[in-house]
Amino acid sequence: MPFDKFGDTVRALFVQGTPIIGICAAGILIRTLAPVLSDKRAEPPVIAVAEDGSAVVPLLGGLTGANDLATAIARALDITAAVTATGQLRFNVVLEAPPSGYRLANPDHAKSFTSDLLAGATVKLVGEAPWLSQSNLPFSVDGTHTIEVTDHPATGSATHLVYHPVALPVVTVTQGKLAIVGTGPGAARWMSPEVNTILRSATDFVGYKTYLDLVKDFTHGKQCHESDNRVEIDRARQALDLAAEGRSVVLVSSGDPGIYAMATAVFEVIDREANPEWQAIEIQVTPGISAMQAAAAAVGAPLGHDFCAISLSDILKPWSMIEQRIVAAAQADFVIAFYNPVSTQRTWQLDAAKTVLQQWRSPSTPVVLARNLGRPGQTVQVIPLGQLTAAHADMRTVLLIGSSKTRTIQRPDGSVWVYTPRTYQP
Ligand code: SAH
Repeated sequence: MPFDKFGDTVRALFVQGTPIIGICAAGILIRTLAPVLSDKRAEPPVIAVAEDGSAVVPLLGGLTGANDLATAIARALDITAAVTATGQLRFNVVLEAPPSGYRLANPDHAKSFTSDLLAGATVKLVGEAPWLSQSNLPFSVDGTHTIEVTDHPATGSATHLVYHPVALPVVTVTQGKLAIVGTGPGAARWMSPEVNTILRSATDFVGYKTYLDLVKDFTHGKQCHESDNRVEIDRARQALDLAAEGRSVVLVSSGDPGIYAMATAVFEVIDREANPEWQAIEIQVTPGISAMQAAAAAVGAPLGHDFCAISLSDILKPWSMIEQRIVAAAQADFVIAFYNPVSTQRTWQLDAAKTVLQQWRSPSTPVVLARNLGRPGQTVQVIPLGQLTAAHADMRTVLLIGSSKTRTIQRPDGSVWVYTPRTYQP
């Protein structure tokens, strides 16, 4: 397929995990991809081939098959690939990247394990794996190190490899992972590269159906544990239980996972239930762009001075407490982001919030109404507080209420910029 934006196209393919063979100078690929290099375990093969077919250089993706691919291309061109990966050269295998059907029980040990072998350690193989026995690894029956090959204890689906740095009694250790990620408000361009990498390597997806739909490009062939369940604690428990079985689980929230989202539910359930089976799980929380940030960016800089966020949902806290917080925030002259403003069941809360706000803010205070940010049907409107009604918002809307200092600037197209000055003169 022809394309004209070389850099953007190559970077987009790389981030999606597509193997790249460039018939061009290695330097062009290096400079193009430098800004998007992040995780060597997930990056696709990137190979430079000299335009006259005289050289093949695997540049990236040594753990995802770049050396084998370069060797295959070189064979077709009747030359030798410029393989520089030490483990591959010495042992003819990359322990960090076993072939499909094998899974590393402790991937974090693989690199130091290889370094030990390069430094002279020997290895005893327990169990069977033809790709290992056919390699040039320094095997010895009384090896200082052991590689154990077992069936996966939880699923039986993939053969399991355990690298023991010293000869240990044969035990299978499975450490599951739970990544709690935020995908941003909607569009792929607002998802961080780190989240993208995690979504690509996960085995199991847990989340509210709407959020799993937002990441469906990543879930092909993976286990999806969708829920319509509003009980977030149950979802958190399910994700932890799957990780305890040794699976690589990703719990998906929109926006940021720590802002009115699943990360908190996970820590609540861990704290409350203290289940010992969850102790070995490697938990990671990965940030995302929250709805209020995307809303602010769409209209200028309304969060440019002190601000706060308040959820108008009274499912988990009583309305009296929410009302008290709105009073305190209004009195303190914060810009306020309202999350969960209106739902089919909760229809009066936004009107009640407006009544409270009007005691402290003038009716001309700018209010940003941002709906479906980054998703199809995005709308962003700025109206004066005096005109705000519950009909302006729903579950997919976030509101930003200006402080007494928030200002608007007319734009040539009739819309306005909104900003809150950094200085605070009365
Ligand atoms: N974790 C999310 C918030 C989840 S609470 C975040 O950080 O953004 C759900 C509320 O977030 C919605 O009721 C709405 O107020 C807001 N929200 C989430 N995504 C949105 C979007 N794409 N556009 C507008 N508001 C959104």
